[in-house]
Amino acid sequence: MSLASRRVARLAAFSLRRSAHASTSARYNSVNADDIAHFSKFLPTSTILSTLPPQSLPSSELSPFNDDWMNKYHGQSTTVVRPRNALEVSEVVKRCNERGIAIVPQGGNTGLVGGGVPIKDELLINLGNMNKVRSFDPVSGILVADAGCVLESLSEYLAPHNHIMPLDLGAKGSCQIGGNVSTNAGGLRLLRYGSLHGSVLGLEVVLPDGTILDQLSTLRKDNTGYDLKQLFIGAEGTLGIVTGVSILTAPAPQSASNVILALPKFENVLPLFVQAKRQLSEILSAFEFFDREVYDLAIKHGQGRALSEEDVEGAECFVLMETSGGKREHDEEKLNQLLETLFESDKPLINTGVLSQSPAQFASMWAIREGLTEAVSKEGKAYKYDISVPLAKFKEVVDTTREHLGSKGLLRDDAVKHVVGYGHVGDGNLHLNVVAAAYTPEIEAALEPFVYELVASYKGSVSAEHGIGVMKTHALHYSKSNVSIEWMKRIKQLFDPKGIMNPGKVLP
Ligand SMILES: Cc1cc2nc3c(=O)[nH]c(=O)nc-3n(C[C@H](O)[C@H](O)[C@H](O)COP(=O)(O)OP(=O)(O)OC[C@H]3O[C@@H](n4cnc5c(N)ncnc54)[C@H](O)[C@@H]3O)c2cc1C
Repeated sequence: MSLASRRVARLAAFSLRRSAHASTSARYNSVNADDIAHFSKFLPTSTILSTLPPQSLPSSELSPFNDDWMNKYHGQSTTVVRPRNALEVSEVVKRCNERGIAIVPQGGNTGLVGGGVPIKDELLINLGNMNKVRSFDPVSGILVADAGCVLESLSEYLAPHNHIMPLDLGAKGSCQIGGNVSTNAGGLRLLRYGSLHGSVLGLEVVLPDGTILDQLSTLRKDNTGYDLKQLFIGAEGTLGIVTGVSILTAPAPQSASNVILALPKFENVLPLFVQAKRQLSEILSAFEFFDREVYDLAIKHGQGRALSEEDVEGAECFVLMETSGGKREHDEEKLNQLLETLFESDKPLINTGVLSQSPAQFASMWAIREGLTEAVSKEGKAYKYDISVPLAKFKEVVDTTREHLGSKGLLRDDAVKHVVGYGHVGDGNLHLNVVAAAYTPEIEAALEPFVYELVASYKGSVSAEHGIGVMKTHALHYSKSNVSIEWMKRIKQLFDPKGIMNPGKVLP
């Protein structure tokens, strides 16, 4: 295929996506004043926000719900409802099912693939008012909570009970546990505590016809047939609305340390990871990588305290390593031994390392890593590719993408400003971020399907943890076979024959 015809094909793909959005909305009815009156029979007025009469709010009041975190995707929903319990969610969904109104379930709206905002004027069901802990058993560590509980508030709830949530991410102050489950969020603790497919023990879900599926089990072992809850973990709200979550939390570590290591070249990351695993074994709880360019952005945009000039000099990239365990002396001894080995080696893998000396320093070092996403979005408009590729290929992916954009003449201050990489090395998950002055069809056409083809050439995944949302429906086939997609469609059809639950998301 000639370059010119390939460009036409890519632009066609771009406009196809736009028209797919348009046809999605044509199948559904819009919310009208009768629907609002119906909702008002069982929802207090304060839990309905609408630009329709009788409220007639200005549309700006709905912007926090219609616009996504990156300000990249914009819905035009006229109405947001904020139910307080599963019964109210069920009543709203029953009405939508009868009337053929499309629904978008929404948590903290921190998703990065446009899944939590409408494509057009779907009804938004925001779970923020469902924010109570239902029970906690300090013996088993099992927590049962409403889906709208903010992740950080659950961590705060658990702290006095000496437990922690099995997941942690930079968006913890806003994202909700129901959103985390629905995106199968990974984050910073996956290396130690595994994925939500393992730690979620049960779910309560309102199905697309309004039925409440109560699978809120608190059992760690239950082999009684199909494990339905797994279908909703990572379904991004396309199969039902999660209203309650039962999750296994972990005992809080008695000691935790972190260290930022400055590396002269990326090639040293993998040998360092191997050595860290060997010497730290059970106390290694995080191993995060970020390149120099994104570190500089974090510092520029005030995320964490800068390392000294001396510490960053000559560094191509950094690794943030965390240890956590049960006995401070034991853990510190192991970490110190590793650092000694690294510094004393004939062929050192690292230039320098900064070991946290206080809880404040520990937090500040994590703030750099957790603030990378925010720093990137403060710098410009971010094209975010959250991919799984073999660890050895992390740098190659970033470099190849940068070269490709350069070959298109797009590496300019008024187009693409930065191409950066960071990620969870322990999970093989790279966040490739292209920071541009503006979102433009030209940059999108240069990036897609280029990035997805690159990922597929390494037999990787086009979404390691952020999900598919609306951003990647056309790219699903790079990571899922036709047979898998066909069965996903059948499952969707079974649960949601009218297709009202978050249409246009996940499935092409
Ligand atoms: C600064 C920052 C850092 C991040 N770091 C990470 C990270 O390390 N790892 C990671 O995996 N993600 C990360 N994310 C992405 C995002 O925070 C996660 O995807 C998070 O789990 C989304 O939760 P939410 O409540 O904000 O969901 P939303 O954004 O509101 O929704 C996300 C999707 O889930 C659906 N959904 C939400 N709630 C429900 C529900 N109750 N029932 C059914 N469907 C629902 C929505 O329809 C949508 O499809 C980060 C985002 C930001 C902004």
